[in-house]
Amino acid sequence: MSSHTESRASSLSRRKFFQLSGTASLLAAAPAAFAAAPRAEEGEDYYAKLGVPTIINAAGTYTTMTAACMPPSVLAAVQRAALHPVRLHDLQVKSGEYIARRLQCEGAIVTSGASGAISLATAACMQNANPGLGYLDMPQSIDGRKNQVIVQKAHRYGYDHAMFLCGARVTEVVTMDDYKRAADQGNAVMTNFFNAAEEEDGIAGTAQIGREEWLRVAHEHNIPCHLDAAADMPPISNLWKYTGMGFDLVAFSGGKGMRGPQNAGLLLGKKHLTDLALRNAPPGDGVGRGMKVAKEQIVGMVAAVDWVLSHTEESMQGDYQKRVDLIVKHVKDIPSVTTLTVVPKIANHVPHLLIRFDPAVTGVTTQEIVAKLRAHEPSIELNPNTGHKPNQGIPSDANTLVVGVWMLQPGEDETVAKAIRAALKKA
Ligand SMILES: *Cc1c(COP(=O)(O)O)cnc(C)c1O
Repeated sequence: MSSHTESRASSLSRRKFFQLSGTASLLAAAPAAFAAAPRAEEGEDYYAKLGVPTIINAAGTYTTMTAACMPPSVLAAVQRAALHPVRLHDLQVKSGEYIARRLQCEGAIVTSGASGAISLATAACMQNANPGLGYLDMPQSIDGRKNQVIVQKAHRYGYDHAMFLCGARVTEVVTMDDYKRAADQGNAVMTNFFNAAEEEDGIAGTAQIGREEWLRVAHEHNIPCHLDAAADMPPISNLWKYTGMGFDLVAFSGGKGMRGPQNAGLLLGKKHLTDLALRNAPPGDGVGRGMKVAKEQIVGMVAAVDWVLSHTEESMQGDYQKRVDLIVKHVKDIPSVTTLTVVPKIANHVPHLLIRFDPAVTGVTTQEIVAKLRAHEPSIELNPNTGHKPNQGIPSDANTLVVGVWMLQPGEDETVAKAIRAALKKA
């Protein structure tokens, strides 16, 4: 641990974690071989041992930055679950039933992230549309069977690969006429709707078809609709809004705003489809075999659902606005600096701080500031939309720093504020 505040905060949460888990005494009784290591119940600091620097995450829930940290109640539940084996199937079924009940849908499974959820959703829909197609038949035996996923051109993205690996292919549509024609072909197994594509001009152009119309046409043709809402909690109510609207399957990432294990996720929806999705997950040897979710992640995800539902929409927003205000206070007197708070409409729906400046006045460029913050001790990562053109609902540009405050640990807002001030002032 590199900063004073950080180490204080983490030892506090560690203490709370072991109080909650009630396993400290068990671990303390570990064999003498471990006696030389740091106090066993604290665990060895493998980041330090391996020489991997911890960072201050002023970016957001990015996979490359290991996304969110689990809250103490989730960590404690994981720790406790790790102490006992169970029958995997029992845990998969009971956790799914529990989550479905709490999130007001028919069926649910814990997946290996939202990407794993998209793959299992596709596998389920391939089987649903092709009677007799076994879970071991994908992707090698799908020739001559239905295998198309209908997607708006503006909703195409890197996660399409999660569908391709089942043997599915994409039929791209732009207009309503395209969409109806594609649905009439009779070879579609599913549609995929990228939820956040509606908040901006998509990745490949403007999406023309909204959710209600999208659902209506697909359902007239008996085609199930999958919605990718990976990064779209908060608001908490999104966890039941889209299944309630009629989406047959909805994927959420578990390690983003929900703060479960980074490699967990949720697939929610119609029970006959989530049951098929589970059939494609381990221990079966189908396409989902490499998407194993261990007991620790399953329990962690259930605990994360409970953690999310222990909040109100207001308390879920934490003190993010206060953190933004504190950083603004530190930079607002710097010549040419203006600040703006932005809450993206759909994905990452929390306050982000935009700090705009004129490099001709400050004498430093965005690239120099980013490098300086990375070299800070501890290293600080700004939101990757920094210096970027408008994207993901964040109106950035070449001379704008974007600060994502929601993944900061207690006290880090002040560290970030001071470091940004120093960088802007070329100090
Ligand atoms: C993050 C993300 C995913 C992948 O989520 P994982 O939980 O990391 O697998 C998929 N789709 C969208 C839109 C995302 O933002």
